[in-house]
Amino acid sequence: MAKRISFPEEKSLFTKFSIRFLVFAKIAVLWKIAFPFALNSIRYYLWLGFIKALLMEKIAIFPGSFDPFTIGHESIVRRAAGIFDRIIIMVGHNTNKKSYFPLEKRVKWIREVFEFDNNISVEVHDGLTVDFCKKVGARYILRGLRTSADFEFERAIAQVNKQMYPEIETVFLLTIPEHTPVNSTIVRDIIMHGGDASRFLPRNFTMNGFKPGITEQSETDSTDTPGTPSKQ
Ligand code: ADP
Repeated sequence: MAKRISFPEEKSLFTKFSIRFLVFAKIAVLWKIAFPFALNSIRYYLWLGFIKALLMEKIAIFPGSFDPFTIGHESIVRRAAGIFDRIIIMVGHNTNKKSYFPLEKRVKWIREVFEFDNNISVEVHDGLTVDFCKKVGARYILRGLRTSADFEFERAIAQVNKQMYPEIETVFLLTIPEHTPVNSTIVRDIIMHGGDASRFLPRNFTMNGFKPGITEQSETDSTDTPGTPSKQ
């Protein structure tokens, strides 16, 4: 007996049209509703993440007179850069110390040291450190500890700062042993007496054109007369 060959059923024009219409309608709905919705959700989450990141950003202030900035200071900042999102080196006036190097020179030299570090910046502030922290939204003060004498001094400042601004935390990093004897006073003395202090200064620290002996006051007076720098 001969086998019956069966052909696929031909769809009617109406069915074909309906299927196409449904497919088109689905695409239109996806395009008009689902796609903008998905896009908006992505946008919303990106903004939320951005705002969260801004609010949660861990900013630390490293305050000091940095007269001058030494390898000890640099080491503390570089180590802390791995802990905090952003570090602001706050060059201030220490009321107990008279600066030897002009403020603008100190700032310039430190900026050069961290020229390629996007998360480290240098700013000047003449006033309380906690006020500066509030201004820039920082919740951490970074300090370096060399000896127990440093600790006693720093402890008092940290506790007073905490009372003035309870949200602030002071974070101490212990210096590496080789940097324990390095301090700005000694480095300054070496420079003042014409010695080579380069081993105590950051590697790309350039004091180009600076004439030791010209004090902050005499520089602002724009005279070239060497002053008599005071020791700490
Ligand atoms: P200040 O004028 O407030 O005394 P300094 O410029 O002397 O500030 O120092 C700023 C911070 O750096 C202080 O916390 C100080 O203890 C720390 N520091 C200074 N020298 C060193 C060093 N060799 N190693 C580690 N920390 C240091």
